[in-house]
Amino acid sequence: MNKILLAVILILLIIVVIVLPKYFKIQNKVEKQQQELDIATRYIQQLNQKLKSIPQEKLKQTSDPDKIRDLLNGYLKEKRIEDKIPAIDKISQQKNEKRFIPDLIPVQRNFALSQKFSEKHKAVDFAAPTGTEVVASAAGEILSVYYDKYLGNVMIIDHLNEYATLYAHLATSIYEAKTFVEKGETIALVGNTGNSTAPHLHFEILVNGENIDPEKILNIK
Ligand SMILES: [Zn+2]
Repeated sequence: MNKILLAVILILLIIVVIVLPKYFKIQNKVEKQQQELDIATRYIQQLNQKLKSIPQEKLKQTSDPDKIRDLLNGYLKEKRIEDKIPAIDKISQQKNEKRFIPDLIPVQRNFALSQKFSEKHKAVDFAAPTGTEVVASAAGEILSVYYDKYLGNVMIIDHLNEYATLYAHLATSIYEAKTFVEKGETIALVGNTGNSTAPHLHFEILVNGENIDPEKILNIK
């Protein structure tokens, strides 16, 4: 009798200690994969929308996301050279214009200000669902796109004046470094990468390399 009881307890212990954590791990993985799939789907939808602006003769039939991205980037580069990138001397005239001042909230909808600027947190956090579009707070050139253990996927934009902006915990970045982006242009998608517990955008504004409180420039209600 006692042996049977012991066996039952042992089996229960095995379930609690070994089986359950494995089960939750698998559940977590499935959830994460679903999330990644959702991000990829939105990303491709977004690319497709941009691709509509590409003349049909340039658009070879393809469903390979990498090829689509190459094609899109190639086209945008070409277009920028033609009419999007202002000449450098033009930029130096324009760089103090509103277009180059990062006063646009980088998440346009479905967001909540979840953390304010402080000595320990030199940024503002915008909580928003994974895959929400992140827009450039001002026009400028992407300085770098990289992965950081804490900040996850990061993008930094140089606004070609004293300002720079940093976007972190991104699900994915749409552009690579050296790309010129317009104010309000979609540059990335909100994610939960790096040391982050829930999807949000960590947003920093730097003036001559020093962090300032973004709320001083952004008009957040
Ligand atoms: Zn933050």
